[in-house]
Amino acid sequence: MKGCFVTATDTEAGKTLVSAGLSCLLHALVLKPVQTGCLQETDSEGKAMLRAPDVDAVERLGGMARALHCYLPPCSPHLACELARERLSVAGLARELRTAAQDESCVLVEGAGGLYVPLNEQESLLDLMQELKLPVILVVANRLGCLNQALLSIEAVQSRGLEVAGLVLNRVVEPEHCDPGCGSCASSEDEARILNDNVTSLARMAGRRHVPLLADIPWLGSDVLACREKLLERLAPAARRVQELLAEPGQEAGSRESLLDFDRNHLWHPYTSATNPLPVYEVASTRANRLCLADGRELVDGMSSWWCAVHGYGNERLIAAMTRQVQRMSHVMFGGITHRPAVELGRRLLDIVPRGLDWLFYADSGSVSVEVALKMAVQYQQSLGRAKRQHFLTPMGGYHGDTQGAMSVCDPVNGMHVLFSGLLPRHYFVERPACRFDEPFDPQSLEEARTFLQSRADEIAAVILEPVVQGAGGMWFYHPDYLKGLRELCDAYDILLICDEIATGFGRTGRLFACEWAGITPDIMCLGKALCGGMMTGAVTLATRRVAQSIGQAPAGLGGGLLMHGPTFMANPLFCATALASVDELLASPWQERVRNLQTWLQEGLAPNDGQPGVRDVRVLGAIGVVETEKPVNMATLQRFFVEQGVWIRPFDHLIYVMPPFTSPKEDVQQLCRAITRAVDAGLIL
Ligand code: PMP
Repeated sequence: MKGCFVTATDTEAGKTLVSAGLSCLLHALVLKPVQTGCLQETDSEGKAMLRAPDVDAVERLGGMARALHCYLPPCSPHLACELARERLSVAGLARELRTAAQDESCVLVEGAGGLYVPLNEQESLLDLMQELKLPVILVVANRLGCLNQALLSIEAVQSRGLEVAGLVLNRVVEPEHCDPGCGSCASSEDEARILNDNVTSLARMAGRRHVPLLADIPWLGSDVLACREKLLERLAPAARRVQELLAEPGQEAGSRESLLDFDRNHLWHPYTSATNPLPVYEVASTRANRLCLADGRELVDGMSSWWCAVHGYGNERLIAAMTRQVQRMSHVMFGGITHRPAVELGRRLLDIVPRGLDWLFYADSGSVSVEVALKMAVQYQQSLGRAKRQHFLTPMGGYHGDTQGAMSVCDPVNGMHVLFSGLLPRHYFVERPACRFDEPFDPQSLEEARTFLQSRADEIAAVILEPVVQGAGGMWFYHPDYLKGLRELCDAYDILLICDEIATGFGRTGRLFACEWAGITPDIMCLGKALCGGMMTGAVTLATRRVAQSIGQAPAGLGGGLLMHGPTFMANPLFCATALASVDELLASPWQERVRNLQTWLQEGLAPNDGQPGVRDVRVLGAIGVVETEKPVNMATLQRFFVEQGVWIRPFDHLIYVMPPFTSPKEDVQQLCRAITRAVDAGLIL
């Protein structure tokens, strides 16, 4: 849909006059989603019908207009609907508006009253504006109090990520001695002063918020038609602004080509080639559990943006926390400074992580938190005089990130060890834990680690692994007793245990932290991804008091007690405030029940693939569903197929897997599973 949303700060601000004028100047159709206060009439065949006064007003001036829903009572849309036993919704209205605008080169969607006018018990006109994503023309009645109303409205519109394209001031107060259209006379000196000051003050104050004052319409008298030319003349700059916006990229379908071209020619994506990249899809926005593509299609999200968006997208609590914090203090260095968001998030995390973890280091991404964990472990051993303990032991099939230290403990076969063999330190690997999560534990699976440690423990600073679920290294769910056994071995040899909960943390496996399946506390734990609910990057490395104190007491030659790490964006206040809101949102939600439901729906939905040609295994744990294939999948083909099915699933290697937002409804999870089943049935994995 191309055009603008025309709204006012309040009722009786004269926005229909503005829509009418713009309609004439731009040859644009005015679409009125809801019109209340209609007139009852009978048509030529004697049938009762409702006439929309705003449509009449636009047409009288020579514009074009249509009202989609008309009601008799002159009241708020939600009440008028209730009286008519109907219900309007943002999704329904947006659909109807898009259909009505289909063949139009420019539409002006006109609101009803102000921004928060309710459409139903939950949704307002502002929600409709947010859904349509059109730039907004704000009509302000020039009267006492309008500065306050205009600035509040600008803030509300901008807080929804929308552009206020400009303001139109409208003198709705009738001056005492007015010649129609003169625009200069006033009823009294005071009033004239107020109204004139409104123009200059609003231009200045709105300008500071990057909103131009596009027009100042004088009092036009009751016979607007007589002043038509004057109105159009005053509105001409507003019409030019709308035309400029129509010409901007994003409103032009053709511009999408150049966006994708630029992307293809200049931007790297994760693990892709600069010369032969995989296709990408332009996402224009997100909402709830949906990715909205620039071409108008909506996809059910199956990935939670790689484990992060557990609450879905656009969560209001998170947005409010971010907005509050960004206005107060977005970033400040952490060296020599502390702040409330860092302390409050720290407190909250220590309340919920496995007992015994007591110190936190704020890192800027998951990989960096792993780097910090590895350095902590080495510094801990050094503080005890064990200088030789500079290596790590880890099971095959692990994934801990793409920075050098993290890479060195990723799976040596699937990882990037061969490419960077000269660069990476050498660590030690044992077989991937063979025992499945849902089968009886075989103690034999710990033998290799036990034998290794018997002879080489004095080289090892720590064992590092992902608890219970190995993520990017194979989406493998192993038995919690394996983790328990490793904890005991680490204790026996005074080696630290590092649990990388970056993917599993915050409920994904059905427990708040996957370590809880084994009832253990690691010495060091990494958290990231869902920690911030998918809003921004940030992670944390936690340690026990024993680890922190031992490092803290190291003598001068061994670090002098300092933990040797300190990134620029450490403890970024915006991240901390958002993460705190995300953790609170999760804890206040019925997340256990949601994850349990997701597990059931995924089990039911993916079961038909078990034993199908090309399928090696089907497994589900918590809100993670996996179909492992016999051959590596053709990513581009499968991705395209999934998009055609209306879902966002990103397969790789031998894995088609989903981990939807916890807030996903059953029908959407079924749609994700159906898409996978169809791909298998269609032989796309053979
Ligand atoms: N550890 C695990 C278990 C992960 O899944 C990831 C990310 N996929 C990381 C570490 C690295 O985190 P980031 O991408 O934020 O650096």
